[in-house]
Amino acid sequence: GRKLLMIPGPIEFEPEVLHAMSIPTTSHVAADFITVFANSLELMRTVWKSPKGQPFIVSGTGTLAMDMAAANLIEKGDDVLVISTGYFGKRFKDILERYGANTTLLEAPLGEVVSLEVIEKELKTGSYKVLTFTHVDTSTGLLVDPKPIAHLAKKYNVLSILDGVCSVAGEEINQDEWELDVVLTASQKAIGVPPGLALLMASQKAMRVWENRKTPVSNYYADWTNWLPIMSAYEAGRPSYFGTPAVNLIVALETSLKIIVQEGMDTRVKRHQNLAKAFRAGIAALNLEILPKTNTIAAHTLSAVYYPKGIDGAALSAKMVADNVIIAGGLLPK
Ligand code: PMP
Repeated sequence: GRKLLMIPGPIEFEPEVLHAMSIPTTSHVAADFITVFANSLELMRTVWKSPKGQPFIVSGTGTLAMDMAAANLIEKGDDVLVISTGYFGKRFKDILERYGANTTLLEAPLGEVVSLEVIEKELKTGSYKVLTFTHVDTSTGLLVDPKPIAHLAKKYNVLSILDGVCSVAGEEINQDEWELDVVLTASQKAIGVPPGLALLMASQKAMRVWENRKTPVSNYYADWTNWLPIMSAYEAGRPSYFGTPAVNLIVALETSLKIIVQEGMDTRVKRHQNLAKAFRAGIAALNLEILPKTNTIAAHTLSAVYYPKGIDGAALSAKMVADNVIIAGGLLPK
């Protein structure tokens, strides 16, 4: 039978979004598709609350969006502060190092977030060009408050890159007001579109840093030199080509972003907060334990719950599948 998909992503999609996927594929330079692409870029600015941001829509996964941020903003020898609350924080470290970054990892104890004092102490050394952090780390269900960290980055003149794969369009984000330089995500979570799109919003400051690079970007596909003219052409209503876009996914993206904007970001965030609170109350009533140490640092887009003591996770998941509910196991060894 039809199974209820309760994993962090892909999620359950709106029927209108799935229908949009099945509309016969048009040319990526057709006039009506140019409008769909341009609308999607502008709707992203509304969802990210970044009217001044430079959006990118590129075929790939969330990892590509991370790779794109690193490839374009890092030059060999740059110092980067990596703030980690789980598996995906460490993935950013690996990606950054591929581009020659010297990384310093600040890791929170399991179930906690890194304190602002610890972050500021590192930034005070004055050597950092970039800091990265994860809004919601899917492996731990931990929620980090981006606002004070972005504020510290600004204070020490460091670019801030937020992995929002598990948060954008679900948790509160206010990119321009908080002065975050990059906020990136993928299509398959709170954006509400099947997997396959990397979505990224860069501040004007980030674009200036990229323009003033001394060395070329050492990744061909991710290079903004190739993609910025394409984004600009779509917004100007002109046909253009670098790599064939995922036409059907982008039609679905416009559909989903319209649904999101119609609900309103503030309403949508509040709805996620209320549902998370209700879900956690249910979890507590079952005497189960969540991974985050306190509710104030627990995500609203997913909940990470320990398996009941003495119960084998794989066996429980298999039983739930038999009951037509799919859940995800943990990514961390513990
Ligand atoms: N960052 C976070 C926080 C994620 O949850 C994920 C996906 N689970 C990624 C990055 C990587 O995204 P993708 O699997 O689409 O490459």
